[in-house]
Amino acid sequence: MNATSDTRRPLQVACPQCRKKVAWRDDNPFRPFCSERCRTLDLGAWADGSHRIAGEPAMDETEIDEMILRAERGDFSERE
Ligand SMILES: [Zn+2]
Repeated sequence: MNATSDTRRPLQVACPQCRKKVAWRDDNPFRPFCSERCRTLDLGAWADGSHRIAGEPAMDETEIDEMILRAERGDFSERE
């Protein structure tokens, strides 16, 4: 009897950015995105205000990412 753990296929999700199928695995740091590029594109959309969750406090990690994105773009509109 073979008790392999390979009989279970990894859960597959569609990348929110490009809709490519991506395996949901612990070794994919970009999940649910397929790549760092797609994740960065989505973060950029958040920073631009394309996505907004009203009344939901942002996670510290997200705020830091936004600050970094703004700093890279030279956008310091928060000071206005
Ligand atoms: Zn993608």
